[in-house]
Amino acid sequence: MSREADILIKNITILRPDQASEILRDTDIVIADGKIVKIRTNINIDAKQELNGRGKIALPGLIDAHTHVFQIFLRGALTMHELQRHPIWLNVLIPFEAEMGKEEAEISAKLACLNMIKKGITAFSDAGGPYPEILAEIVSKSGLKATVTHSTIDTGISSYLRSAELNRELVHKYRAGRVRGWYSLRQIMTSTDELIEKTFKYAEEDSVGIHMHLSEEPIEIQHSLSRWGKRPVEFLYNKGYLNHHVVAAHCAFLSKEEVKMLSKSNVKVVHCPTINMMYMNFPRVPELLAEGVKVALGSDGGSYRSLDLFTEMNIMITGMTGYYGSPFLDFNVITPKDALLMATRNGAEALMLEKSGTIKEGYSADITIINTHKSHLIPLHDPFTLPFFASGDDVSEVIVDGKLIMKNGAVLTLDEEKILTEALEITPIVQGRIKRILSKAK
Ligand SMILES: [Zn+2]
Repeated sequence: MSREADILIKNITILRPDQASEILRDTDIVIADGKIVKIRTNINIDAKQELNGRGKIALPGLIDAHTHVFQIFLRGALTMHELQRHPIWLNVLIPFEAEMGKEEAEISAKLACLNMIKKGITAFSDAGGPYPEILAEIVSKSGLKATVTHSTIDTGISSYLRSAELNRELVHKYRAGRVRGWYSLRQIMTSTDELIEKTFKYAEEDSVGIHMHLSEEPIEIQHSLSRWGKRPVEFLYNKGYLNHHVVAAHCAFLSKEEVKMLSKSNVKVVHCPTINMMYMNFPRVPELLAEGVKVALGSDGGSYRSLDLFTEMNIMITGMTGYYGSPFLDFNVITPKDALLMATRNGAEALMLEKSGTIKEGYSADITIINTHKSHLIPLHDPFTLPFFASGDDVSEVIVDGKLIMKNGAVLTLDEEKILTEALEITPIVQGRIKRILSKAK
């Protein structure tokens, strides 16, 4: 018997931070062939699956626009004291990735994908790690969407050098679909001028994104000034490298001029609230948004936090308001609606996902559903205040490309218990490796 739709969601509250009709109550959503085909009240249609949306909120799928899948086994190993091994990415994170074996990589990828689905994430952009092809295979199975890339570096640990040509093979292998290969530059400090030039050239020719860390700490600014006589963004902008393909994570030390350069060149910036505000700086997020820059949200990986974008939204609103707003009695610096927009539509734009990032007819059916039948979510007078009260643990369903990948909190695409067992089994081995790396690090 053929059915008219794949999924019918009945009587749900829909939040659409980018649309004029931003809250739709008691509304039905019809999903077919990966797309949202109808949004109305009282739809009667024969669907393969029907979900009761009463007491639930549908959000555009959450997107983690900057993460490090292969750092998840560092969770809880980097205490405040360890953060003083400055810069930690060069002294600890890169050696950790460089020494990783394939088995650990596979378990890391499974654990991270499972963790993301449980927290309501529908798509992510990995900043680059040792085994992007392993990650691509796991993402395919998980039902998530992702961009994967090598950690492109041509100075530093010899076993961990990755060329633009190697990255190009990945880009050509994963050209379309849910998993796409991207280019990356780990950091200008670990890239020769030749690598930087080639990477931007290839990304332009192949019309795909480049994921990079940019303006993340004072030593990077000093490095750039002494190497080129220009600040990092200024250098890349003057070279003509910056455009809408570039996703720049952190951007925590921008000059006012650099904010304008990012805006003019349509670069997508990713703010990672916890790590930016704790370890780096308060980025000029309100100014970037006011200049029209699409700022997305990132977790920066699972080593400091639990890959929960609700936590990141909450921290961002609190931190940014405390820093840029409260002293001036201005409480509209970053609103919860802004935060939701950053975690959804802006993330979709950063990942170059076409027709995604909102709940609208004709758009990709990427939806995160929250169960509000909880003591901490009743009442919720303005549903847009969700980032203040909800956490990723309130997510009950996740739909990606029209497929239900989590239902009632149970992940349907990955074996949760098996992954947790594998992760526990390998933990002591990884612990030994972390100990060795930390004892050698500055
Ligand atoms: Zn990062």
